[in-house]
Amino acid sequence: MNRRNRRGTRRQLVSIVGLSFTIGALTATHLIDRPQAAVGHTSTTSEPSPIATAGYTSTLEEKHLSMPIAGVKRAQLRDTFDDARAAGRRHDALDIMAPRGTEVRAVEDGTIRKLFTSKAGGLTIYEFDPTETFSYYYAHLDRYAPGLAEGQQVTRGELLGYVGSTGDASPDAPHLHFAIARLDASKAWWKGDAINPYPLLAK
Ligand SMILES: [Zn+2]
Repeated sequence: MNRRNRRGTRRQLVSIVGLSFTIGALTATHLIDRPQAAVGHTSTTSEPSPIATAGYTSTLEEKHLSMPIAGVKRAQLRDTFDDARAAGRRHDALDIMAPRGTEVRAVEDGTIRKLFTSKAGGLTIYEFDPTETFSYYYAHLDRYAPGLAEGQQVTRGELLGYVGSTGDASPDAPHLHFAIARLDASKAWWKGDAINPYPLLAK
């Protein structure tokens, strides 16, 4: 191993350790804030281990994802990943509040894999990253960008649609529901392990 590689490895390790601390801190906060959610909830079995999560995230970190809503400051974001949702499910996403009609833009280069309307998500977009390792999910949209189509290549910052409250979002609280999933081997757009977008977008 030459010096350059060794330095790279060390930097990666430092980044993983740092993330583990962050995840630990978030978990601790979560337990303090909502002890009822932790009781009778064996969610630990369904969550990836901190090391595995750090591995995924460090790859995503290197992408330096763009903010999906222009004008939103990183410091304004609030971590809503662990929030409880209906039927004992975890939110597994980031909600970014914004006025209806605010432009939603691609966080990275990629392909529009699926335009889908669901009961919960309303008008949604599934974008795959160029390596088809991750999917980016944009939900509750008011409408799509004109001409947006499945299979379309998009570039970072490209207009995808507009903030709304379709699906189960409250009509008086339009927001973007943004989620990231690590795709499995099938590359099915509706599958994958949820990854918290908050630490990736908040800094
Ligand atoms: Zn949401």
